[in-house]
Amino acid sequence: MRKDYLLTPGPSIIPSSIRKVLGGEIIHHRTEEFGKILQEVNEGLKYIFCTQNPVVILTSSGTGAMEAAVSNFLSSKDKVIVVSGGKFGQRWAEISYAYGLEVIPYNIEWGKAPSPEFIGDLLKKNKDVKAVFTTLCETSTGTVYDIEGIASFLKEKDTILIVDAISGLGQDRLLTDAWGVDVVISGSQKGFMLPPGLAFLSVSKKAESFLAHSNLPKYYFDLKKALKSYYKPDTPFTPAISLIMGLREALKVIKKEGREKLWEKFARLSLATREAAKSIGLKIFSQRPSSSVTAVVSPQKIKSSELVKRLRQKYGVSLAGGQSHLKDKILRIAHMGAVGEQELIICFSILEKGLREMGYNEFETGASLKKLEEVLYA
Ligand SMILES: *Cc1c(COP(=O)(O)O)cnc(C)c1O
Repeated sequence: MRKDYLLTPGPSIIPSSIRKVLGGEIIHHRTEEFGKILQEVNEGLKYIFCTQNPVVILTSSGTGAMEAAVSNFLSSKDKVIVVSGGKFGQRWAEISYAYGLEVIPYNIEWGKAPSPEFIGDLLKKNKDVKAVFTTLCETSTGTVYDIEGIASFLKEKDTILIVDAISGLGQDRLLTDAWGVDVVISGSQKGFMLPPGLAFLSVSKKAESFLAHSNLPKYYFDLKKALKSYYKPDTPFTPAISLIMGLREALKVIKKEGREKLWEKFARLSLATREAAKSIGLKIFSQRPSSSVTAVVSPQKIKSSELVKRLRQKYGVSLAGGQSHLKDKILRIAHMGAVGEQELIICFSILEKGLREMGYNEFETGASLKKLEEVLYA
């Protein structure tokens, strides 16, 4: 049987210890037993989110929590700043428009990161801005944003900072409370080593005070209801029980390794990935590369979508191509969750093969593997 190596930015590899729990016996959710599991999971989420505030679990993919953030913290015609430098920043804008917010767009070139000072100026010019929407790791370009810098311009203001950390959490450093980030969102299928189906959302005291005034329609994603249940602990509706049991296992693995150690590990894995790519003549797309996903520019003659297809079908290595106008231009390699040194070695060995088969051979065979070893085992 062929193995599939998922180095895609979601879904990501699921370790066998977590798969075992996911396939285990199901229990009822209105029980003391499940309450205990929720209690444990709630504590574990606070650890990885670096917060003392509640982290609510929603049953949806990550985008559900993004929509919940818009529909629960804001009201129609509220002014918001939306940072958009890729597919997922665009998503913030799309959701905001769908709910009738007044969007002040801060559009940046894909691959670049926003300037915190520019956001500070926008806030000065627009005193009535209610929220700033941005992204920790812009997955479509492999770019990490300076969230600490952005947050520094929102302190003591009546504006909340909402960060999509769906792909970044666990790999890219994010100190929610220490930096003053009000809402952090993530999802199960990226750094959490789980299948898709759970979304997470942290709520600061300032953000919680916004809930009372919101007049936008909501029902399933009602965060007031979710928070009321949270403190019991319980959930308003049937939760994805099996995924939450898997989450408990995943959070144990994360806690055992330690969040600081994880940030260091993924900084090293991403550095190794960039250096390996450069050693075979590939350029790094992002100007501020993330520790979660690396975007490399495909050689001119090669459509990255075709390369991705070949690597997956012929060799069982799943990478991602580009999105929107970058569809055939870039190749994205994710190093998140359970991805480690072994997977990167396999990835580059196969990538070299695929590139050669498609007519790109301006490198020495094994150059990227040598470089990986140099960085990983230095
Ligand atoms: C994957 C991803 C999403 C979308 O999450 P879904 O789980 O597909 O809804 C949103 N934002 C970022 C940054 C992502 O990487």
